[in-house]
Amino acid sequence: MSRLILALAFLLAALSSPTLPARAAELSYVARHGKADFLTAHLYPGASIVLAPQHLRENIAALTFDDGPDAANDPEILRILAEHDAVATFFVVGRNAAKHPRLLREIAAAGHEIGNHTYEHVRLITQDPQQQDAALRRTNTLLSAAGVAPRWFRPPFGSYDEHTLSIARANGLETILWTIDSKDYRDIPAAVVEDRVMRDLTPGSVILMHSNHRNTVEALPNILTRAKLAGVRFVTLTEWKALMERATVAQAD
Ligand SMILES: [Zn+2]
Repeated sequence: MSRLILALAFLLAALSSPTLPARAAELSYVARHGKADFLTAHLYPGASIVLAPQHLRENIAALTFDDGPDAANDPEILRILAEHDAVATFFVVGRNAAKHPRLLREIAAAGHEIGNHTYEHVRLITQDPQQQDAALRRTNTLLSAAGVAPRWFRPPFGSYDEHTLSIARANGLETILWTIDSKDYRDIPAAVVEDRVMRDLTPGSVILMHSNHRNTVEALPNILTRAKLAGVRFVTLTEWKALMERATVAQAD
């Protein structure tokens, strides 16, 4: 019976989401229940490793901030992260990075990782393979010129098709989604963003947040304080992957 209620709740959550596919609602559920195979296919599509968060030796998680660089919020996000000794990954939109090159360099110089989030925040399933390639390549070129070598790609809206993963690989990028959707883009109160993240936070979580929403900035100090009390260390996605690979090897031992 409770399973039925859960299934209905997730269906309703999926239907009520105006901008994201049903996958986002499924992911939080999977992350909470630690089904590694499903987690791999949906969080990290096309990955060469099987994620085994249950075998992680350390309680780590990855914060990700999409849609910047954002001149209004990112300087504050950087200050808050520094105060809490936390690092994160920023999935920048190429046209925003072109407008804010200094901010882009500041993010990288502070030890955070920078990923590719297309040039104009397009929904890739509406684009043919050549257009998809251009959306990724243009941002890579811009980032390279700023001295940043991106390794990760996150498709806007979590939307990708059968061409996207190989196009990303051809551009030297691994595609990654998230396990926790903070839903900050709905402009919900900061306390709700905070509670949603903390409720679902488990070892290995990848948290979706956005640079261009004020509630993210307001929720971040409490998230970092509460996570630290819970023994969580926030890492870049590259470190996240290294630790995940180690957990996979440990599982095989
Ligand atoms: Zn986005």
